This record gives sequence, structure tokens and C-alpha cells, in this order.
Amino acid sequence: MRAIHHIMFRSPSEEQMASFAEAGVEVRRVLTIAEDDPRWTKVALLIERFKLRDVVTTEHSDSDQDAAGVLTMLATDQHGYPEPAMDGSYLPATFDLAEHCRFCGIGRRQSAPFRLKKTPALGKSILQLNWIFDEYFVNPDTFKTVFRPSGVDCRPVVLNKTGAEIDSVVQLSIPQIIDLRTDGLAYKECSHCGRRKYSHTFLREGPCPAPTEIVASIFKSNQYFGDGARAFRLVLISGLLHRGIKAARLSGVRFIPCAE
Ligand SMILES: [Zn+2]
Repeated sequence: MRAIHHIMFRSPSEEQMASFAEAGVEVRRVLTIAEDDPRWTKVALLIERFKLRDVVTTEHSDSDQDAAGVLTMLATDQHGYPEPAMDGSYLPATFDLAEHCRFCGIGRRQSAPFRLKKTPALGKSILQLNWIFDEYFVNPDTFKTVFRPSGVDCRPVVLNKTGAEIDSVVQLSIPQIIDLRTDGLAYKECSHCGRRKYSHTFLREGPCPAPTEIVASIFKSNQYFGDGARAFRLVLISGLLHRGIKAARLSGVRFIPCAE
């Protein structure tokens, strides 16, 4: 494991910029530096001196990841939006909202294909849309070579304007829902629907809570995570599928091992 610091600057003063330049780093809005970087000792002193906000994340080594029996899969970035995005009507267009709570975001159930504005150029990447943190999209070749051999199914994606199926992208179908061992994890109960949403701060440093069983190569947590009106399930994958994704050199995702 390797600690990575993300140091936040609002409007750096000249003194801050000069001091950081002296330590060998250029100030940006978010300055990212690993603890094993030779400049770290000096930077650490400057964080202290200027009382800067420092968010620490952990990068797991390849050997940590390879040894894990089950891992959480996270997108490194989000691209595009579920449509129609402007007025939020992607929600009723894509989900059955009978159990949905708009205050905490829990309870939407997908009932129709996702709608996209245009055909995405995916190449060898795994796509996640903005706002939808528990679904992934790949091109059909990637699906056939990496996911289908692990027993994963897929569902179509359509163009928003015409409703026509897009032949260069599919959504990974992840119907299995498994309880995670969330004992001891902080949560809030929604004051409107009373349902529980867990804090997801462990995503910074890992490990993720372990599933009570592994029944498929890809599955979702029964528990919801997030804050405010955002709620998502964790997507977990087996060690075997993780190795398949790495062997195929797919980009767009990162992994955090689950607790033993
Ligand atoms: Zn609620």
C-alpha cells in the first residue's frame, strides 16, 4: 500500500507558491504527491506551516490486489450523462421509482435501457456515467472477451433521440445483490424513508467491507453508500474477474481489496 496526499489550494499566496517551488513542486488547485516521493518530507512541513487541507488516499500495490479474493471496482472518472439529463427525466425514463426516495436517493430500480446523447468511443475502457455510480458500460468486444467468459450478462443501451440500440456499447448486467459485513461502519438513517445509508470514507484507504458470500463474478452490495441525495451500491468483483480485467489491460477503473 502507498499513501497519496491530495493537497487543496483555494488561492495560493505568493509565499506559498515560493515555498512549494523551493521544495521542488509546483502549486496547483489540487497538488497530488505520494509519501514515497523524495520531496514529501519538505511538502509535509509546508502543509503543517500553511495549515492546508490534505486528503489522503491509498494506492494498493498489484500484489495486494492480485492476492484479494474479492475487490470493489470503482471508476477513475465519469463521462457523459444518463439522458434526458437536463430536467432529470432520465430517472423516470430509466428506473422504476416506486421505492425511490428523492431525499436520500435510495431505492431506484432499473426498468429500461440507459439512454445516451451520442455513441461513446470506448476502446479498451470501462465507462461510468456521471450520477450513476453503480453501473458500468463496455464495448461488445470487451464484453465478449472479458466478461461473458465469467458468466456476466449484458443489456442494451439506446440513443436518447431515437431510442435505437447502440451497437458499440453494452451495460454490464449486475443482478446479484449480496449483504456486506458493515458492522461498525458509520451510517445515517433517512429522516423521510427511514432507510440506512453507510459512509463510504473507506473508499479512500480501504479495505472495503467483505461480502457475506460470493455467488457471482460480479455483484452489488445490498447496502447503500453515499451522502446527501446520492446513494449507490458497491460493485464487487471476484479475484478471477479482476485478473481478467487486468490481463485485458482495460482502463477507466480502479480496485480496492475487500477485508478478509
Ligand atoms: Zn430516504
